[in-house]
Amino acid sequence: MKRLSPKRYDKIQKHVTRVLFSYVFLIFPFDIESFIRILPKVELKYYREYENPLLLLKVSNDGFGFMRPDGIYVIVINDARPIKRQRFTIAHELGHFVLGHFSKKDLDEETKEAEANFFAARLLAPNWAIKRLKNKDVWSISTAFGISEESAMYRYRNYNNWFTYGHPMTELESQMSEYCFFKEVELGIYVE
Ligand SMILES: [Zn+2]
Repeated sequence: MKRLSPKRYDKIQKHVTRVLFSYVFLIFPFDIESFIRILPKVELKYYREYENPLLLLKVSNDGFGFMRPDGIYVIVINDARPIKRQRFTIAHELGHFVLGHFSKKDLDEETKEAEANFFAARLLAPNWAIKRLKNKDVWSISTAFGISEESAMYRYRNYNNWFTYGHPMTELESQMSEYCFFKEVELGIYVE
């Protein structure tokens, strides 16, 4: 077998790491649906899968999450809503689960909602990834991360604050920032 130069092996190893590292997590827009499907204790369902979606609309226009008696957390999403809205709702409902809101009786509903929104916004469009965009305007953020222009506006403001105050990142975050990439680059959102 042909032996390659150490430099080449090194280069290939870096590519391997990049492919493994970027799977699902570091390709934006973040594929929240695929991500949910690999989680063992979470299930994703859509209103259209139910016999009477009108009843579900009475619960919520966007979607909701609930703990099934078998211990599986079920996220139910209104698939008639715009896709960017659905993505945010999935991330929001996942937030309630990850943050353990179902067992936290001491937190009021308003706090839980604020926490889940914070979680969702930063899961779909992390500051360390926004940092990589050449154009950091609302439209570019909305397109690159698959979030609504309204969410992108909040992220834009928050990003600017974060950046102004020294943009702190953990070691892992700066690595992810270096490795992440964007599907929409061909649309003119060039990465720095
Ligand atoms: Zn909520």
